[in-house]
Amino acid sequence: MSVVPLASRSEAAVPALAEALISENFGVRDGVLTVGGTAATELAAAYGSPLYVYDGDVIVRRYKALAAALAGFADVYYSIKANPHPAVARLLVEQGAGLEIASGAELLLAEAAGARPSDILFAGPGKGERELDLAIARGIGEIHLESFEEIEIVAALAAAQGKIANIAIRINPSSAAQGGAMRMGGKPAAFGFDEEIIGDVLAAIAARPSLHLSGVHLFAGTQILDADVLLHQWSYGLKLAADVGRRTGSPVARIDLGGGLGIPYHDGDKTLDLDAIEVGARRLDEERRADPWLAGAQILIEPGRYLTGPAGVYLSRVRAVKTSRGQRFVIGDGGMHHHLAASGNLGQVIKRDYPIVAATRLSDPLRTPATVVGPLCTPLDTLGRQTVLPDVAAGDLVAILQSGAYGLSASPVGFLSHPMPAEVLVHGGQATLIRPAGDFSAPLVNPLG
Ligand SMILES: *Cc1c(COP(=O)(O)O)cnc(C)c1O
Repeated sequence: MSVVPLASRSEAAVPALAEALISENFGVRDGVLTVGGTAATELAAAYGSPLYVYDGDVIVRRYKALAAALAGFADVYYSIKANPHPAVARLLVEQGAGLEIASGAELLLAEAAGARPSDILFAGPGKGERELDLAIARGIGEIHLESFEEIEIVAALAAAQGKIANIAIRINPSSAAQGGAMRMGGKPAAFGFDEEIIGDVLAAIAARPSLHLSGVHLFAGTQILDADVLLHQWSYGLKLAADVGRRTGSPVARIDLGGGLGIPYHDGDKTLDLDAIEVGARRLDEERRADPWLAGAQILIEPGRYLTGPAGVYLSRVRAVKTSRGQRFVIGDGGMHHHLAASGNLGQVIKRDYPIVAATRLSDPLRTPATVVGPLCTPLDTLGRQTVLPDVAAGDLVAILQSGAYGLSASPVGFLSHPMPAEVLVHGGQATLIRPAGDFSAPLVNPLG
C-alpha cells in the first residue's frame, strides 16, 4: 500500500491513508462507502446507527497472508481481547488459528468460537482463582504464569483437581534485550517475571509437581510498525527460551513470541512490511532449527490488532453541524463511549485522528478540517480533531476506519448510559447481525459472577 500525501494530490476526495485503506479493504459505490459489497447507507438503515461493521473476508485474508509469511516458523494465535466477538474469532479458528485469552469470560468466548481447549492460551497479570480453576478444568493448552502467587495458586488448584497443568512463564526482558529496538525490555512492568529472577521462578515451578513447564512467553510491545523491531523481539524470545531449556535441562515445548503487530492509523504511518517479516522469519527459523534447545519447539505469535483492526468500520450518523467561533463541529450519534481508542483516550500519548471519512459523500470535495464529536456531555467525546471532510449535514454517515480492534470492547460503554451499538459481520457477501443494539440499562450477566 503506498500512501500519497494529501498535499501532493489535486483532487483528493478523502485523505491519503483513508483512501488507501478503502481501496485495500472496502469499496465505493455512487460516492457511498461499501463494506463487503454492502453500502454503509443500507447497513445503517437495516441495523441502525451508530454501528460497528466488520468485513470477515478482510479478516480471513489478513490471517492467510500472515500465516503464509510465517509458514514453517510460527503458528498464529488470535489475541481475542482485540475483538472478542465469537463470530469474529470463529472465522480465525476455522482458518486454523489458536486463541489467546486474558480472562475466564474470554475462555467461554473462545469456546463459543469453536476453539479446542488445547489451542487456547491464557495470559494476564492478575488472574482470579475461579478463572484459573475453569482453565485447569478445561485443560487448556497453557496458562501463562506472571507472579509467584500464581505459581502457588495454579499448583494448588491443579493438585486439587488431580491434574498436571501446562504452564508457561512470561518473561519481562532485561535491558540487554534492547539491541537496536526501542520498544522492549528493561522497564518495570506488572506483566511477567523480570528476566533477572528467572532462576528463582524455575526453582519455584520445579518444586511443584502439579505444574509442567511447557513454554516461555515474551510480549513487550504493541502497535509495532517496524519489522526489524518485531524480528529483534522474536530473536530475543528464542534466546530466552533456549536459556530456560538449558537451565532446566529440557527444551521448552512452546515459545510464544507475543503479538504487537501494528497497523497504520495516521497519515504518514507506514504499513508493517510482511515481506521483511517473511525474510526475517526464515532466517530465525534456520537459526533455531540448528539449536537443539529450540529445534523441537512450537513457535507462535499472538497478534490481535493486526488481524481484525483494518476489517472494522464504526459508523456514526450526523445529527448536527455547527460553526463555533470559526471552527466547524460535526456532531454524530457515535462517540467515545463506543470507541475510546478513536478519541485518543485509550492510552495514546499523542491524540491523533483515526482515518475518518464522510461515508455518504466520498466523491465530494474536501473542505477545511472539522472537529468530529459524539453525543456525550464531555469534551473527551471528540473522535476527530483535524478531520478533513467535505460539507456534511444531518443524516450523513461518518465512518471511522481501522476500527475492528480495540473498539467496542475497549470502550466505556456505560458512560452516559447511551444504548449499545449493534455489531454486524459481513462475510461472503452476507451481512449478519452479531450483536443487536441494546439498552445499556438492561442487566449485564457475567457468567463467572
Ligand atoms: C493484548 C495482547 C496481545 C495482542 O496485542 P496486539 O497489539 O493487539 O497484537 C497479545 N498477547 C498478550 C499477552 C496481550 O495481552
